Amino acid sequence: MKAHRNHDGVHIAATAGFCFGVRRAIDLAEKTARISKNRVYTLGPLIHNPQEVNRLKGHGIKALENVGKIKKATLILRTHGIPAAYKEKLESSELNLVDATCPFVKRAQDLVKKLHKGKYQVIIVGEKTHPEVVALVSYANSTCCVVEKKSDLDKIKLAKKVGVVCQTTQTPENFNEIIDALKAKRPDAVIFNTICMATIDRQNSARALAAKTGLMLVVGGKNSGNTKRLYEICSRLTKTMAIETASELKCAWFKGVSSVGITAGASTPKWIIENVKVKAEKLLAKNKAAKAVSGGKCDGRS
Ligand code: SF4
Repeated sequence: MKAHRNHDGVHIAATAGFCFGVRRAIDLAEKTARISKNRVYTLGPLIHNPQEVNRLKGHGIKALENVGKIKKATLILRTHGIPAAYKEKLESSELNLVDATCPFVKRAQDLVKKLHKGKYQVIIVGEKTHPEVVALVSYANSTCCVVEKKSDLDKIKLAKKVGVVCQTTQTPENFNEIIDALKAKRPDAVIFNTICMATIDRQNSARALAAKTGLMLVVGGKNSGNTKRLYEICSRLTKTMAIETASELKCAWFKGVSSVGITAGASTPKWIIENVKVKAEKLLAKNKAAKAVSGGKCDGRS
């Protein structure tokens, strides 16, 4: 069906930006920084958004790559979770731990643990190198198989008892495709669809808006998995650009466009989305004016 591009102006998707888990982690981090007598650190970036992580730094919350020699301090564990053995090691240290792991990620970790205990071969649908998946794998003593796409299943020697858990930010389409292929080989596989509702809501809103606009702007950290998925969804439907901040917007993208949509990953704060909207409105108006005067040429400045 041909999409109707009749949505003039700049619109933000009905659901975009901070999700419950990220909001919770940031509130927890800010509260901890306010009341803690120690230095406050996060292990790795608290969320996948460099600008927000930088803002937190201004509140005295610094992201560490590893704990190193730090002893008397408060350490906040990120939304994506950390590997089980590392967590145990930190729990027995002198550090004061604050666990900001999203409860939905925690649920997926518990399911991996339970399946492993029940002697299931655990398959995780997700990106091998994403911190959430790296941590999930550890909950089955690193015996899990990670499947990113349907064809990866062919590389796995399937056991009799198979259980599946999903990275919380996958697309239902990819997950279902993999599950259909798996069910053909192991009809009695135990399946847990652990994609979180925040992910599904953002994907559905982005899809609906992309179908109505001539340009979609996907705002979020380049290291954010769920932002990447929003980009993939939108780019199948319309011209789509991925940016972290308003400063990356280019005037030329708006040429011949009358409707612009904005969506944002679950780690993107409202202030970044609003800045993008303000600048996108200016560039859209500029292109409209340029079109009226000189046939639509940008003046080279963004
Ligand atoms: S995207 Fe879902 S699982 Fe991830 S932090 Fe947000 S609510 Fe939690």
